[in-house]
Amino acid sequence: MLFDTHVHLNADQFHEDLTEVIDRARDEGIEYMVVVGFDRPTIKKAISLAEEYDFLYASVGWHPVDAVDMKEEDLEWLRELSAHPKVVALGEMGLDYYWDKSPKEIQQEVFRKQIRLAKEVGLPIIIHNREATSDIVEILREEKASEVGGIMHCFSGSPETAVQCLEMNFYISLGGPVTFKNAKKPKEVAEIVPLDKLLIETDCPYLAPHPYRGKRNEPAYVKLVAEQIAQIKGLSFEEVAEETTRNAKKVFGIN
Ligand SMILES: [Zn+2]
Ligand SMILES: [Zn+2]
Repeated sequence: MLFDTHVHLNADQFHEDLTEVIDRARDEGIEYMVVVGFDRPTIKKAISLAEEYDFLYASVGWHPVDAVDMKEEDLEWLRELSAHPKVVALGEMGLDYYWDKSPKEIQQEVFRKQIRLAKEVGLPIIIHNREATSDIVEILREEKASEVGGIMHCFSGSPETAVQCLEMNFYISLGGPVTFKNAKKPKEVAEIVPLDKLLIETDCPYLAPHPYRGKRNEPAYVKLVAEQIAQIKGLSFEEVAEETTRNAKKVFGIN
């Protein structure tokens, strides 16, 4: 049993063969998946998929790259959706300094607003971070995000940053990059983060694990992430699968 905590089955890349992709995931033992929405169309699709399939849940948030497009009514919409029975988290939200569509100040403001909303409605948050680690950590601290906690998705930071995030009540989620031969930091992070604080994800269709690197990713491949973590930690695949599934159910409040 595996839990892929971050999928974009709502992406256009799955438009043609979504049913087959979902079937392959179920055949590989993926028990649950959280479909992450990050703008209006992907949020709508995440909700409809979560309504259609028992084993799919949704997370809704506003991506930092598009922060400049977020209006007050979008935040209100997120507030309404947070009451939906299949919405288990808010996000992805955070900071992305790689793309320059949205100025940093606007990204930070939109990030803070969503953290405050999560605290109001009592949902965990899913954090997206690209080249913005120190500002992310500072904002999480200032906004007391530890009250709701959540997930550092596709974590790519250092072991030191991982420890800071653990202290703030966040789980560390590892994806495809932990399987890359030249990925030093994710492997170190897998080694030092206790198993009861680790989650696994694909972030599909992006970041496919080795040996599919560069191809379209899909939830079935989350098994490769779990296998790699098991190897690094010297544990059995079953132990990693079982414990990361238990962690995911805990953070999302799924029985
Ligand atoms: Zn992301
Ligand atoms: Zn994502």
